[in-house]
Amino acid sequence: MKTRPFTLSFTQQEPISETAIAAAVSVLRSGRLHRYNVVEGELSQAALLEREFAAFQASRYCLACASGGYALQLALRAIELAAGEYVLTNAFTLAPVPGAIVAAGGRPLLVETTADLTPDLDDLERKALASKARVLLLSHMRGHMPDMDAVMALVSRHGLVLIEDCAHTMGASWAGRKSGTFGHLACFSTQTYKHLNSGEGGLLTTDDDTLAARATVMSGSYMIYERHGTVPALPAVEGVRLRMPNLSGRMDNLRAAILRPQLEELDRNVERWNERYAVLAERLGACNAVHMPQRPPQERYVGSSIQFLVPDMDAAQASAFVAACAGQGVELKWFGRGEPLAFTSTHHHWQFVEGQSLPQTDRILAGLFDMRIPLTFSPADCAHIADIILDAIAGRENA
Ligand SMILES: *Cc1c(COP(=O)(O)O)cnc(C)c1O
Repeated sequence: MKTRPFTLSFTQQEPISETAIAAAVSVLRSGRLHRYNVVEGELSQAALLEREFAAFQASRYCLACASGGYALQLALRAIELAAGEYVLTNAFTLAPVPGAIVAAGGRPLLVETTADLTPDLDDLERKALASKARVLLLSHMRGHMPDMDAVMALVSRHGLVLIEDCAHTMGASWAGRKSGTFGHLACFSTQTYKHLNSGEGGLLTTDDDTLAARATVMSGSYMIYERHGTVPALPAVEGVRLRMPNLSGRMDNLRAAILRPQLEELDRNVERWNERYAVLAERLGACNAVHMPQRPPQERYVGSSIQFLVPDMDAAQASAFVAACAGQGVELKWFGRGEPLAFTSTHHHWQFVEGQSLPQTDRILAGLFDMRIPLTFSPADCAHIADIILDAIAGRENA
């Protein structure tokens, strides 16, 4: 190893800004932490966040709730998923995605993955036809968007209901159109490692009155849904308010208060992430042993993490490679690991999902490495990290 070790933490986010801290302190001083606890004429922080995020997405409705996974569950329940109904979704995604499908009573039908880490649209079409599934929960896992024009053509060919999981595409777009505005509903996360940080939190968006009404009522709005930031027209709410179960999962004003100033910084932070991503992608991409997922020109992504493939490493080499990087302070996740670790698991580990044969995905995951890019790293830090990774790859080849 010729490169000096890297010493910063891969799990250290930037501090919450003084503006956001002041907003939080103001909520604490008021004592009104619950989103419906307002004084005459006041719009709560949660309601204001809903308005601002709806405007950011150019969506009609936004619902702030407890987590991204909870938002996914609400979206699936809002479309009145039937018990045992198939839901098409990516095989390569995070465990809360199939988890939300199972929680809503559905059966995940997993779609193969391409080397660009997007769902294989041929496999999707085959499975849509064979299963007659009505729902596609498209997870933009690690920020990789499939060709959204092709997806929308497929959605319309098969009359699918599309839900977008935008946990890693908040701030991203396809051909100038925001990720999350293609589907009937979209779900976002404000968990610490996503693009806005409130510890935990979720946002659901839609343009549909009935879906918005159902989701709002289910989130636990009692009879005070008019205190939401974007309220569906009353007839839509009246039609569902006593019929939908109360699944109590609201966002509180404290979290909303610290998210609002962060939303103002989001576009700027997307540029900062992409500046760091570019340094890593360029260096890693120049190595013959590495395959970087291709990112089409229509995709404006958010490089808050980076994935790369080293296709001809066997399992022992991959373990040694991850260990060599870790020894130099670089924390890589490897999707080919036999055992789940920390946040990383694969379809093989999800015993709550019916086992499915996904040979193409397995081949991809066997050589897939993943790394967070916190904004506490500078572009120079990213160059340093790339050098360590490249050393470790070269070390493997010489071994
Ligand atoms: C984080 C994440 C979720 C779930 O969000 P939470 O807010 O943690 O519940 C869903 N999908 C993907 C791809 C994620 O990364």
